[in-house]
Amino acid sequence: MKVHEYQAKEIFSQYGIPVEQHVLCHTANEAIKAYQEIVTDKVAIKAQVLTGGRGKAGGIKLANNKESVRQYANEILNMTIKGFPVKQILVSEAVDIAAEYYLSFTIDRNTRSVVLIISASGGIDIEEVAHKTPEKIIRYSIDPFIGLPAYLAHRFAFSFFKQNELVERMSSILQKLYKTFIETDASLAEINPLVLTPQGTLIALDAKMVFDDNALYRHPEIHALFEPTPEERIEVTAKNRGFSYVHMDGNIGCMVNGAGLAMTTMDMIKLHGGSPANFLDIGGSSNPVKVVEAMKLLLNDSKVEVVFINIFGGITRCDDVALGLIQAFDQLQTDIPVIVRLTGTNENIGRGLLRDHSHFQVAETMNEATLLAVQSVKGGNV
Ligand code: GDP
Ligand code: MN
Repeated sequence: MKVHEYQAKEIFSQYGIPVEQHVLCHTANEAIKAYQEIVTDKVAIKAQVLTGGRGKAGGIKLANNKESVRQYANEILNMTIKGFPVKQILVSEAVDIAAEYYLSFTIDRNTRSVVLIISASGGIDIEEVAHKTPEKIIRYSIDPFIGLPAYLAHRFAFSFFKQNELVERMSSILQKLYKTFIETDASLAEINPLVLTPQGTLIALDAKMVFDDNALYRHPEIHALFEPTPEERIEVTAKNRGFSYVHMDGNIGCMVNGAGLAMTTMDMIKLHGGSPANFLDIGGSSNPVKVVEAMKLLLNDSKVEVVFINIFGGITRCDDVALGLIQAFDQLQTDIPVIVRLTGTNENIGRGLLRDHSHFQVAETMNEATLLAVQSVKGGNV
């Protein structure tokens, strides 16, 4: 789960990581009021959206008078950045920059540990630095039993600074960021840039935190910040109804019993040149109510042009599934073609029931069904 910069900065502040003075605003008038309250004449106006690269997208502007605050606030509040409409902006005290550093803790699956990533070449081009000059980026796997004690933090701080004061400041920020990362069950805690000011202070000018969804139950105050995208909202609804659902970008809606078969179905669709709209495991039950709910979920996605139902009836009886489908389509008004592959217990009865119903195209094998699904999607190339 991602949070906004201002929310991540709130968490940083609680852990003692220095951030600049800032005010969250929703309108240009609020921004002007904030400008008057902030101690400096120069402010940064920053879009608050759940995506990075705002600077490059024009979502960050510096202003030093009321009029430009109004103009930039209005401009940024009218922007959409990478599909996210800007609804809030941060008006923050502009900071003078002597140097920009990159600092983060994240999980490295290869080493199965937390990894510290630091670079003296921070800022908006960090991806390019990582790509072109990877040697400028230091990675260090943290031993969970050792963590980041002072001696280690100092060691990293010394690779950036010689002055004692700065080394102390840097190592303190490193230790605090690690503590934040661990205690909040984050999967990413990132400061980019960590700014060195001409006065020799260090400030987290940007803040990014991503939290482990599976640990959110331990952090109700963080969970409360969850702002789902339309896709995530559907996933949450699905989860509450007992489905395992993941939204994707394709146009073939999939409804499958069993996670392994669901994965295979997606592979088959890809193999035949199609593109799945989702992963959906409806589980082993043949409860018709569940089938209705699952169908509603798929039809909610406007991209879905065909529904591919792939059921292997072991415990699930195919005649039950067929009855559930028929019941679902008596309730749902839709012209979307539905391809069903049913095999297993009572398969002949099940298929027979479906064949009597005009809405369904019935296939016996997975291959046949996949071909039908891919062919029926406009532009599907088989
Ligand atoms: P991002 O583009 O979404 O990562 O947003 P950041 O908050 O990291 O800002 C991007 C860049 O804008 C920073 O690397 C800075 O160079 C610049 N910037 C942001 N805030 C300030 C500020 O207060 N003063 C100055 N001089 N530059 C800023
Ligand atoms: Mn940034």
